[in-house]
Amino acid sequence: MSEITLGIIGGGQLGSMLAIEAKKLNIKTVIFCDDMDAPAQNFCNHFVNGNYDDKEKILEFINKVDLVTYEFENIPFETLNEINKLKPVLPKPSVNRLIQHRLAEKDFVNKLNIRTTRYVSIEKKSDLDALVDFLPGILKTTTLGYDGKGQYPINSINDLDSLNIDFSQGYILEKLVKLKKEISIIITRFSNNKYEIYEPIENTHEDQILKYSKIPAEINEKIFNQSKDWAMLIAEELKYVGTLCVEFFIDRNDNLYVNEIAPRVHNSGHLTINAFNISQFENHVRAVCGLEQIPIKKISNAKMMNLLGDQIIHYRNIQKFNDNEFFFDYLKKDVKEKRKMGHITTLV
Ligand code: ADP
Ligand code: MG
Repeated sequence: MSEITLGIIGGGQLGSMLAIEAKKLNIKTVIFCDDMDAPAQNFCNHFVNGNYDDKEKILEFINKVDLVTYEFENIPFETLNEINKLKPVLPKPSVNRLIQHRLAEKDFVNKLNIRTTRYVSIEKKSDLDALVDFLPGILKTTTLGYDGKGQYPINSINDLDSLNIDFSQGYILEKLVKLKKEISIIITRFSNNKYEIYEPIENTHEDQILKYSKIPAEINEKIFNQSKDWAMLIAEELKYVGTLCVEFFIDRNDNLYVNEIAPRVHNSGHLTINAFNISQFENHVRAVCGLEQIPIKKISNAKMMNLLGDQIIHYRNIQKFNDNEFFFDYLKKDVKEKRKMGHITTLV
């Protein structure tokens, strides 16, 4: 079998887990990251440190790999596009460009007749005056947000005065959904109508950051099926290759909405490492490298807890975990408040 070297842009926990799974499949990995201390360098065959617009470093990276994928979506489109001229980038750069922009992403989803929360583009402060209809809402930057960063809850127009928002960048105002629950679907698309799709995962956020995930999700059959159908429709429409996550809201009347799409492996899918024969990470590597598609099988129900900031310290000191507990330390150099430092999955 010919040897494949997979390039991964981004060296955080998702890059680490991709590299770990690739190794098991005999695939070499090269990580490219702008953070000198990127934890994924502990797990890959080669590490290249450089900014995401540093042409020389990018070339050094490309020369070492056969194809390129990425662990996060906030990579300049130009960078992915230039790389794609020399080595295949999967998922395609155009897919990433669409999804990294909250407005383009929501327009795309709505065109498929899939429900999203109501939203409107905001380019200047006065755009907000006429929008009482969208309140209470959340103002979000159209690009570069994650873990609730770049988001401002707005209950009344007066809230804006105290917020000091920088209107040199674009925003989207979303109507607040009265949430009953949040779920996500992780799907890996291999090629036309060839998928592995995990069952819906129920997610709990604290301060807009994912805290807990579990399977099975406590949802009715209609939502179970609709969430899977919508994720398949989105993946097919994008002609996506690799693992994709669709995040959903369920409101108090059991209406399902797509919240956002992540063109990558996702935190809510960490439990697939222990709860399934094949994880979201292995499936991503299999799909982008053109390896065999193997049907997924559930091994166990599971719950996952993210360890944020100094919560990791307690777990680092535990000598022995129970047989059904799996602790992951992302080996991040600095412990920062609200930073994802590790997680623990329990099979139940
Ligand atoms: P991020 O890119 O930071 O993950 P999200 O848009 O997914 O941004 O928002 C993070 C979390 O904030 C969501 O999972 C949800 O808990 C809450 N949230 C965001 N938008 C809304 C909304 N329109 N209505 C209700 N809750 C929301
Ligand atoms: Mg989100």
